[in-house]
Amino acid sequence: MKIIAIGRNYAEHAKELNNPLPQKPVLFLKPDTAVLKDNKPFYHPNFSNDIHHEIEVILKISKEGKLIQEKFAHKYYDEIGLGIDFTARDLQSEQKAKGLPWEIAKAFDHSAPISQFISKLEFKDLNTLDFKLFVNEELKQQGNTCDMIFNFDQIITYASQFFTLKKGDLIFTGTPAGVGQVKIGDQLKGYLNNQDLLNFEIK
Ligand code: MG
Repeated sequence: MKIIAIGRNYAEHAKELNNPLPQKPVLFLKPDTAVLKDNKPFYHPNFSNDIHHEIEVILKISKEGKLIQEKFAHKYYDEIGLGIDFTARDLQSEQKAKGLPWEIAKAFDHSAPISQFISKLEFKDLNTLDFKLFVNEELKQQGNTCDMIFNFDQIITYASQFFTLKKGDLIFTGTPAGVGQVKIGDQLKGYLNNQDLLNFEIK
């Protein structure tokens, strides 16, 4: 499986990192070795002094497809979850300054903790999903999918022009404002519509 992730999909987050608003979705990939499941602890890597949390809503792809039209895009994902797009912000800033790719900052081992997945049929409206991240019981990030620059279907359509989507692939749909550094000992808790789905420690 692969992870396709969208950058700068919430205007307030793009602003906080001084990035322009994108005209097209900004895509990057994470390999399957990035996945961290079952609320296992995240071990802080030594190569970065500034790992940031980015809470994101995730789509799970339910069947293979490419060149998917927007009106059919909803047929290609059936479950929703929550994840953290861990980002080595110091490495990313260096790479960005040199115009180099982001992989070492975004796609490293366990950079994608994911929750259990929930059938999308359990949600009334996917365009108004509320999600939050608490660090040590303090609210750090809060978002609503109504604020996405590119909605789920637009992301599927755009990404499937370049990459065949396969069953089991995951799409990280972008983070709202409030990203920040994690430290060893922090406890991260993520909620989707007030359901607690993520709860793990930084070790
Ligand atoms: Mg992100």
